[in-house]
Amino acid sequence: MTTENSDNSQINPASDAQAGQTAPVDQTTQDPQTVQAEQTTQAAEGDQTYQDPQSGSQVDWGQVQIGDEVTSLISAGSLEKYGFVPFRIAGDVVQVAVLDRNDMNTQNALRFFEQTSHKKAELFDIDPESFSVLIRRFKDPSLQIGEALSSYQKSEEEEEKEELERKRRSSGAKLEVLKDAPVSKMVEVIIKNAIDGGASDIHIEPLDKSVRVRYRVDGVLYNSLTLPKKLGPALVSRVKILSNLKIDEKRKPQDGRFRISDLGKDVDFRVSSLPTSYGEKIVMRILDTQTGLTTFDKLGIEGRDKKILEDVIKEPYGIILVTGPTGSGKSTTLYASLRVLNKVGVNIVTLEDPVEYVLEGINQSQVKPEIDYTFASGLRSILRQDPDIIMVGEIRDEETAELAIHASLTGHLVLSTLHTNSAIGAITRMIDMKIQPFLLASSLSLLMAQRLLRRICPDCREEVSEISQGAQDMIKEELAKMPPEALKRIKGFSGTSAEEVPIKTYRGKGCNLCQKTGMRGRVGIYEVIEVTPKIGRMIGSGALEQDIEKQAIEDGYTTMKQDGIIKALNGETTIEEVQRVTEDESGEEVIAAKGE
Ligand SMILES: [Zn+2]
Repeated sequence: MTTENSDNSQINPASDAQAGQTAPVDQTTQDPQTVQAEQTTQAAEGDQTYQDPQSGSQVDWGQVQIGDEVTSLISAGSLEKYGFVPFRIAGDVVQVAVLDRNDMNTQNALRFFEQTSHKKAELFDIDPESFSVLIRRFKDPSLQIGEALSSYQKSEEEEEKEELERKRRSSGAKLEVLKDAPVSKMVEVIIKNAIDGGASDIHIEPLDKSVRVRYRVDGVLYNSLTLPKKLGPALVSRVKILSNLKIDEKRKPQDGRFRISDLGKDVDFRVSSLPTSYGEKIVMRILDTQTGLTTFDKLGIEGRDKKILEDVIKEPYGIILVTGPTGSGKSTTLYASLRVLNKVGVNIVTLEDPVEYVLEGINQSQVKPEIDYTFASGLRSILRQDPDIIMVGEIRDEETAELAIHASLTGHLVLSTLHTNSAIGAITRMIDMKIQPFLLASSLSLLMAQRLLRRICPDCREEVSEISQGAQDMIKEELAKMPPEALKRIKGFSGTSAEEVPIKTYRGKGCNLCQKTGMRGRVGIYEVIEVTPKIGRMIGSGALEQDIEKQAIEDGYTTMKQDGIIKALNGETTIEEVQRVTEDESGEEVIAAKGE
């Protein structure tokens, strides 16, 4: 994709922005023009390593940094045209990534390049996705913003003249129209940077004297750009146009979405605007449509937890409840389940707020409380549509809870989420929502809780040489409580008793790939309670939470913390992450504070 292109041809507002014009249940956010997901590879994973068959040397495209000595050799524009990118100089050899080494154009251009640079080209094949990323890296993004900014300022000067002219003629054309090109370019660069950097959110925030652009990566907000204050309204307008929001409505919060095709991959953006005292703030959440295609394994659902979940979703009816605070990855787990269930001949309907990922073959619908299309009213209409499987984004009121139970009892599989801290807490929460224990007992099939932890960067992982006494004691204590079955998940451990487990933990040293943080990506920790006939009877008779949990432990249940400890011993995360996330259980305040 060419970044020189400042028009918006790849950017399509998603169809669901036209609120209320179609019957909500029939509504799907699928945009037929942009469904190309099949052709995509796992470019998002990024760091494919290519081994050159001739030289035998390896290039990790994700890690390649292109220095000035290389960028000064050739202009970025011709690279895209000829399908190659020089990325490293070693003596009189220049290493070049090529899309197709047999292409005549590429060969001619390379010959010319060798002559002008006085260097011999060493060729490395590269896939199109990595190629585009490399091209972008070749063009320094801050430079691109700079270019767009100066052209914005230029057009602004011209505009002032025009504005005077216009005032004289008293015609009322909009300012934004003229500024459009450089501003579009800036928004495009901001969005691309976020995708390249693996961000989950982009914040465009008006401050007292400037506009700040920040990215959230792996749960942490990073300051990225500071732009002139006067640019704010134009940027905000541009994003609002993309996402079909009302430009002139500046006093009320608005929500919308749009979709772009980036490197042949669809990326959806959920946009919200919020009036603040310095102007409108925009948050764009990046919903990588590929993320909806994830698997239990990739999410870190392992061992017994995975087996139970796989078994339970095969049942024709029952309720599966996933719990956790906002941002703990609950809906990703539900999407992974739907993906397993999504087969021809099965009617799956979802009711979501919002639709986070578009799944082909599934009828997804978005609740719209403003037109009285809520979880409860939506669920009632869905039940009339004869679905087999229903996913309800969240159960948050008595009516929805009751309808979910009813759906399960009438032969549907229901997947939903609840806002509680633990798996066992879901029972109490449902009873608080006036559900009769005996109905709960006969409809619940699985309770699950989860959190997301930051993952240790696999490229700079090292063993921690000294583990604090406190951490060691905590690990040993939890290991001793785990069922022997769980210990088998510890890599390289073949013993049977907890005392024999070698206590080794890991951390990330920090490298270029993880921006020196030592952490990259995230992994979930889980606890899964299967509602067996025995546990069902306990729920029905109003047993205490701790007694039900005791029974679950007898059945082989492990807590999120224990799951986290196994993952720490396996080098997936740090023991500090496990403690940070699992020992911070002060109740609802934690849940509220973690929301975005
Ligand atoms: Zn690293």
